[in-house]
Amino acid sequence: MPYLTLKDINKIYPNGYHAVHNFNMEIEKGEFIVFVGPSGCGKSTTLRMIAGLEEISNGEFLINGKRANEMGPREREIAMVFQSYALYPQMTVYDNIAFGLTLQGVDEDVIEQKVKNTARILGLTDYLDRLPRALSGGQRQRVAIGRAIIRKVGVFLMDEPLSNLDAKQRVTMRSEIAQIHRETGATTIYVTHDQTEAMTLADRIVVMKEGYVQQIGTPYELYFQPANVFVAGFIGEPPMNFVRGTVKGGKISFGDNAIDLTKKLGGKAAQYEGKEVVFGFRPESIELGAVDGAYQFQAMVELTEMLGDNTNIYITVGEEKAILKVDPHDTPAIDEKITFSVPVENVYVFDGETELVIK
Ligand code: ADP
Repeated sequence: MPYLTLKDINKIYPNGYHAVHNFNMEIEKGEFIVFVGPSGCGKSTTLRMIAGLEEISNGEFLINGKRANEMGPREREIAMVFQSYALYPQMTVYDNIAFGLTLQGVDEDVIEQKVKNTARILGLTDYLDRLPRALSGGQRQRVAIGRAIIRKVGVFLMDEPLSNLDAKQRVTMRSEIAQIHRETGATTIYVTHDQTEAMTLADRIVVMKEGYVQQIGTPYELYFQPANVFVAGFIGEPPMNFVRGTVKGGKISFGDNAIDLTKKLGGKAAQYEGKEVVFGFRPESIELGAVDGAYQFQAMVELTEMLGDNTNIYITVGEEKAILKVDPHDTPAIDEKITFSVPVENVYVFDGETELVIK
């Protein structure tokens, strides 16, 4: 039996806004799940329904197979870490972490042992006597996480926990959250709009858009087998390049280049004659030069960005634009005319109407 089950979960706010549509998912104990998608797509709403902070309008939420819709947050054995880590400013790190247990009247010795263990996991042992104002942003966030993980709960819910940190702290904290998850083994549901955070942390990712789940899968599946144009464009940085066109004689055009869809789709291409398709390839899955058997394109270099481990090349192909990611040693000159190739297996074709991938 799955640990958590979301069955056709819907949220309709009192003002009539339908924020979440038929969310279906089963979550196993110990999984690290990330909800990702642009701002406003319904991630927090879903998380808050799981937490018991927001009523479920329609559908069923089960914990260990038992209906939990009517359970309060405490009964669900769920702890939540919020975006703003409201710590008590006049209390030490120790007291902040201990606070929940102190309120419950837990024995002092037990509290001390638990606080020390939590501080060890979070690397806060040397800071237990400090006040929050004497900590860095990352350390404060760790205290906030400490307050959540010290309680014995079944599920941790985290809503954009890193959004108040600077870029460097985010990267450090990201690996710390992964480490905390390894140590505690706690089922975690994590909300972010950042696809890199999702890719690096998740066992499985749920991609959402405008209240609808687009795809649920491992980072590998989302990257290599995106279900639709949205997921293909959302996962990966820089994003996948797309060329939209109406199929004529099995082909669409990309600048002066003809893209022969039969190469990828075989006989299926005929079904799309006269219809619109979207041809997609990732910036990093190309090769400079002409490769036999691959899709080959001619392009003009507009701009290059040397990033150290790779160079991003901004190209124009006729009227269209695309980005290629290459080894910095292969960086072409601006205004240079180049040929590049995309192996057939690295190409995706989507139905222009439904935007679903054509298999
Ligand atoms: P996300 O977490 O993905 O940014 P939210 O779940 O916070 O998105 O919000 C989803 C949508 O629901 C947004 O359009 C938001 O404006 C709307 N929404 C959130 N809370 C309320 C509310 N209390 N009443 C009406 N609409 C709301």
